[in-house]
Amino acid sequence: MQPTRCLLLKQGEIFLKGENRPTFQRRLRQNLEQAFPAECGRIRVQPRGGVIVLYPQREAELLAKRMAEVPGINVIDSALAVPKEPAALAEAALAELRRVWGEDLGDRTVPFAVAAQRRDKQYRLTSEQLNRKLGAQIQQATGWPVNLSHPQATVRVEINFGEAFVSVDRRRGLGGLPVGSSGRAMVLLSGGYDSPVAALRMMKRGLSCDFVHFSGAPYTDPSSTYKAYALVKQLSRFQPASRLWVAQLGTAQRTLASSSDPALRTVAQRRLMLRIAEELAARHGAEALVTGDSLGQVASQTLSNIATVDEAARLPVLRPLLGWDKEEIIAEARRIGTEEISVLPDQDCCTLLAPPRPATHSDAETLLKVERRAGVEDLVADTVSTLQEFRFRNGEVESESAQAAPTAAAG
Ligand code: ATP
Ligand code: MG
Repeated sequence: MQPTRCLLLKQGEIFLKGENRPTFQRRLRQNLEQAFPAECGRIRVQPRGGVIVLYPQREAELLAKRMAEVPGINVIDSALAVPKEPAALAEAALAELRRVWGEDLGDRTVPFAVAAQRRDKQYRLTSEQLNRKLGAQIQQATGWPVNLSHPQATVRVEINFGEAFVSVDRRRGLGGLPVGSSGRAMVLLSGGYDSPVAALRMMKRGLSCDFVHFSGAPYTDPSSTYKAYALVKQLSRFQPASRLWVAQLGTAQRTLASSSDPALRTVAQRRLMLRIAEELAARHGAEALVTGDSLGQVASQTLSNIATVDEAARLPVLRPLLGWDKEEIIAEARRIGTEEISVLPDQDCCTLLAPPRPATHSDAETLLKVERRAGVEDLVADTVSTLQEFRFRNGEVESESAQAAPTAAAG
């Protein structure tokens, strides 16, 4: 058996699942396969208990990066699959150390540790004996000191039934649950920092996410729509398939504004957004709405206004960032690749007709009166008729319902 490059994917929370575990694992496997880059050629998949082993024909590094974007995987080890003889293990360990730390291992000093595990309990050495034996061999070849409490390099060895795996190259995955294992949600996606981060949080709890963005068209330029488009394109890396609907809200906003006290406009608009999102959710099988609200962040996100907004929807409104600070949200946006899109300037529909002093208190009864005056059902129906759909897969656009670019959506 030749040493063969492979990836060991360790599943996270799926392990808390009892009888439902096979369903979660099946979903995870489908999601992984959807995300395989074509550049890797044929990829052999071998599930083994809590670990999924992938053998790509080529481009293992690219595959490892990609697998770090699939919810449900906690850890990705790039490993060599080798025969179980101690000599082969030592040789593989040194080869992997050279790959990661450079050809001349003696040129530097890297405190290291060996962590061996055996699934094959019949193996003639115990884990402890393996640790010592390999540790001594590596020390002799490199001159590096062993440091078990704070190693800079960890050589991981797994003795399996057929072969052994040796790895020194570990990266963290996204963790969480496989997308689709908790159902489907409709995310209200603005061009800001919060809602894309909220979306990924919910994907990581197993929700397939569809997206709706409201532009201020025909009274704003298409900049916010471009941002929503770019955001969903990026977010589509984290789930098998993503759909974005863009609705032109400007006309309905005007009507609503002329029927309400200026201070209540923002809450009225937010309720309208929820009603439209709920209509879309019903058409496309989503069982919850998701927003990027964070308690107290702006006037529309006081407890009173959140309660008033919630009463416009029958579906649960999930707000995963409710307890997050803006700083934490932006740091997360940077990690997931949405920050550089969210930071771009845009003409957002919320600033259109924004009152100078929005109310921090509101009640559903008053808002219902406003909505009756404005004819909210017609506003929902009219706005829904402007919807344009875009589809994305693996960070790429797949198709668009109308014309070639999102310009048309924003008019
Ligand atoms: P974000 O909250 O995403 O950073 P923002 O700060 O502009 O953007 P807020 O005005 O605080 O958004 O709105 C709170 C939430 O309402 C957003 O997180 C989003 O879920 C929803 N929302 C706001 N504007 C829009 C929009 N134009 N289209 C879709 N959803 C929106
Ligand atoms: Mg916000």
